[in-house]
Amino acid sequence: MSASFPLPVTTPENKTRQPDLEALIQQWGEKILALIDAAETPSLFSKKGFYGTLMEWAMADEHFKTQLFRFVDVLPTLSSSSEISRHLKEYLGDDQVKLSPALRLGLKAATGASWLFGAGVKAQVTGMARQFMLGNDEKEIVGTLRKLNEQGSAFTVDILGEAVVSEAEADQFAQRYLDLMDLLARQIGRWPHPCKSNESPRGQLSPLNLSVKISALYSQIQPADPDTAIDRISARLRPILRRASELGAFINFDMESYALKDLTLRLFKTIFDEPEFTLSPACGLAMQAYLKDCEADLNDMISWARTRRRRITVRLVKGAYWDYETVIAQQQHWPVPVFAQKAETDANFEKLSLALLENEETVHGAFGTHNVRSIAHVLAQAERLRIDQRNFEFQMLYGMADPIKSAVLDLGYRLREYCPVGELLPGMAYLVRRLLENTSNEGFLANKFAKGASRDELLKPPIAEIMGRSPSLSTIQYQSSTTFQTSPFHNEPHTDFTIASERQRMAAAIQEQRKKLGQRRPLIINNKPVPTPDWLPSLNPANQSEVIGYAAQATVAEAEAALAAARAAQPDWGRRLPADRAAQLEKMASLMRRDKAALCALEILEAGKNWAEADADVAEAIDFCKFYAAVMRDLGCPQRTQTIPGESNLLHWWPRGAGIIIAPWNFPLAILTGMTTAAVVAGNSVIMKPSDQTPMIGARLMDLFLEAGFPPGVVNLLTGPGGKIGAHLVAHPQIDFIAFTGSKEVGLRIWESAGHTAPGQVNLKKVVCEMGGKNCIIVDNDADLDEAVVGAISSGFSYQGQKCSALSRLVVLSDAYEKFMDRLIAAAASMRVGPAEVPGNMIGPVISRHAQQRILALIESGKQEAKLAWQGTVPNDPNACYVPPTLFTDVPAQSRLFREEIFGPVLAVTRSRDFDEALQLANDSEFALTGGCYSRSPINIERAKAEMVCGNLYINRSITGAMVERQPFGGFKMSGGGTKAGGREYIQNFLVPRVVTENCLRRGFAPADEP
Ligand SMILES: Cc1cc2nc3c(=O)[nH]c(=O)nc-3n(C[C@H](O)[C@H](O)[C@H](O)COP(=O)(O)OP(=O)(O)OC[C@H]3O[C@@H](n4cnc5c(N)ncnc54)[C@H](O)[C@@H]3O)c2cc1C
Repeated sequence: MSASFPLPVTTPENKTRQPDLEALIQQWGEKILALIDAAETPSLFSKKGFYGTLMEWAMADEHFKTQLFRFVDVLPTLSSSSEISRHLKEYLGDDQVKLSPALRLGLKAATGASWLFGAGVKAQVTGMARQFMLGNDEKEIVGTLRKLNEQGSAFTVDILGEAVVSEAEADQFAQRYLDLMDLLARQIGRWPHPCKSNESPRGQLSPLNLSVKISALYSQIQPADPDTAIDRISARLRPILRRASELGAFINFDMESYALKDLTLRLFKTIFDEPEFTLSPACGLAMQAYLKDCEADLNDMISWARTRRRRITVRLVKGAYWDYETVIAQQQHWPVPVFAQKAETDANFEKLSLALLENEETVHGAFGTHNVRSIAHVLAQAERLRIDQRNFEFQMLYGMADPIKSAVLDLGYRLREYCPVGELLPGMAYLVRRLLENTSNEGFLANKFAKGASRDELLKPPIAEIMGRSPSLSTIQYQSSTTFQTSPFHNEPHTDFTIASERQRMAAAIQEQRKKLGQRRPLIINNKPVPTPDWLPSLNPANQSEVIGYAAQATVAEAEAALAAARAAQPDWGRRLPADRAAQLEKMASLMRRDKAALCALEILEAGKNWAEADADVAEAIDFCKFYAAVMRDLGCPQRTQTIPGESNLLHWWPRGAGIIIAPWNFPLAILTGMTTAAVVAGNSVIMKPSDQTPMIGARLMDLFLEAGFPPGVVNLLTGPGGKIGAHLVAHPQIDFIAFTGSKEVGLRIWESAGHTAPGQVNLKKVVCEMGGKNCIIVDNDADLDEAVVGAISSGFSYQGQKCSALSRLVVLSDAYEKFMDRLIAAAASMRVGPAEVPGNMIGPVISRHAQQRILALIESGKQEAKLAWQGTVPNDPNACYVPPTLFTDVPAQSRLFREEIFGPVLAVTRSRDFDEALQLANDSEFALTGGCYSRSPINIERAKAEMVCGNLYINRSITGAMVERQPFGGFKMSGGGTKAGGREYIQNFLVPRVVTENCLRRGFAPADEP
């Protein structure tokens, strides 16, 4: 019985070798279906009941389903009846859902009208939730479990909770697991009979079975640092495992999203290898058949168990996060980890079920499914393999598929119910998942109980369905949003640091980079190195005694030389075909991709970006190259303005000339690359002036321009004192454009200087000017705090708040205020602070000693203006430039804290009475860059969209991390001139439009196709 993988699946070929298997499956299936048909329809699907009507509606109308489930999701946060009826109207009022008169009548008849349009809605939804979860009352929990026990059904308990966003919450969660085990152990001891489903030929199974989610035991899981996650989760798990051993309890690891899959498997293997836990407690884990990796993982888990002679339980499920996994993979441009067709998942479930049965001496198979075909397949295979019917078990969710549960028990098999306990509020996400599962068009339950699918349909072999479909359906097609005529564009995927080889690559790149520190990087003019007498050291913000390199310091003379080179090179470059220039940018993109890890390593050391931030910056730089190349290819084809007989009107674009690019240090590669490439692909030549803080990254970018083969003079590198050479060039009559990103102070100076027309100047200067922000997020009373807390932390503190898009003002509505602030402060206190090169550190040093002193001084003066609500601690390292993350509350709207840009890890929080006041506070700023709103009120969301004054508004997500093309980035008012980096129109800033009109009529004769 120890067959090795790969295992056979029932394909048409091997069916001939096992002629009776499919027949056996059908027999079992029919038997179960007959038992189900004799039982009562589950109340959720009963046409007589109110829930049944709602579910019927949801299945009939996708829009209604979305509105209903969103309403259910927000409901527990609503405390007053006026709030409930407001939301009810916003989600399900007549204007929102256009129900057919028949459905409306049907609902009324089902006594739903009072639910939908009147009082009692909270009680009804609570009732609905109660169908799927046991609540929070100890007596009720114990009562329900005891009833299950008496009915012959075993259980596993799971604790529902809010997402764990802080270490304090993780501690509380761990304690809840301990308390629940103690409570149940005390009670179970008093029950008169052991549960029949815990009796197996291999002995009595533990009646106390606990399902644990590892994400509840550590709040700072970072893909780049699984080692720390394993350490911290293990530390909280050990007491749970010890207690489980003492009580003879069973511990199961649930399987969550794909990002946590490898971590979960590794944790399972590491902790149960610890001498203390090699024998007990009894343990198991869930594995998801919808994952393409699942077969390999199961194979590995079986060998692990076999080698250790440790019998484990594998709960085989199909997987609960299919939509999420497909959406996230597509957003990130990562391979989609799940099968695309439901039938493929079903077939894999059958294949892996067989693997479990064939290895039943090593693994105890627990089949978590409500699908009769999947169950019948297990029964048929077990019969074929002559496995005792009580040597494996079925698991089903509490409140789901009761007739199927009864059928399984009636047939003499063992059953375990998965019973979530906990409060209603965090339980809503669970309820919505169950409702989605019950109403899924593809799901077995809806097909059986709501749609009345035929027996043949329900028991159809999944393989037959796969064979009947087009192979293209087996892969999820990325939906490309781009509409370029000449070349497609996809964002560069961020590195998935859950993959071990990617982590190793980055660690090696940092080591490698360190060997190259201390180089002198000259200016580059006309593609030639130009050394200077003065060199400025660039220092690691985490260690000011580590010199990353020395940058040449240009004087006005070199600035003039660079300008002369640029002017000389531009005409030829500008005359090249746009497609040729685009091709050079595409070459840049591929060079950057080749050097991605090395570029990240340099950013980590020179700019103090952590792994993920550095990786995102390099990916964005690659995006700029690819995107602007694609835009230019399109703009390079003259566009017809209007079609009119006898005349041709074509729009062409010409380069502006020579310009200067002045870039900041906070996105040291992406912004410098973006501004430079947009200008040069348009046919201009440039002088590239990177920031004084990150000149080595600028020099590396210049290397790539040289390697990509840009002609001499098209891109020139000029490092040096911005106040002198930058100012000189901005004012220069032969400069045609200036692209600047940086502080308001310098930006306004440039704007003014460029507006002055010098003698001999032939062009009006174009200024692309992106400045700062004082960005605000509104947290509404009904916001999902799990998301709002995480979003505020990442928006405010990632890269130490040194992003122009960073959150610096939080306006929280009063009902949500106390709870939100408690959780926000606890979450902030859980952030890991330390050198950016250590993976998993969220907060690193600020860019320089000067910045550190400036921010610390602002924090000091802030204490006079507002209440210091919390301040973090930072490593005591005099060589590093740390600033403790800081939160101020009760910040007056007129204070400097509320109005001035700080560019550091400092958040100013204000409480607001209502949404009107929140909008007014959010808009009370001279800046208009980014903004955000967390709300579950459709009307408030619409108001935020219409009224928040900012260039980039984000609803229910963090406000940083704009992606090229997806979220063209830039603000207005004192945040900038309204240009959008990464947007289609951006390149036009570096071009002048020309329209050429030709009269095509000659002597009254018009050609059929005008040029
Ligand atoms: C006791 C128990 C414990 C569970 N624990 C976990 C757990 O730890 N982790 C977890 O993720 N889930 C868990 N689940 C949830 C489980 O994944 C779902 O309930 C289950 O997938 C529903 O499968 P089914 O066989 O009952 O229904 P079916 O209707 O046969 O299958 C539905 C499933 O098919 C898959 N699917 C749907 N559409 C597609 C598609 N287009 N392409 C490919 N596949 C598709 C999805 O997995 C979907 O859930 C558990 C379920 C039970 C019963």
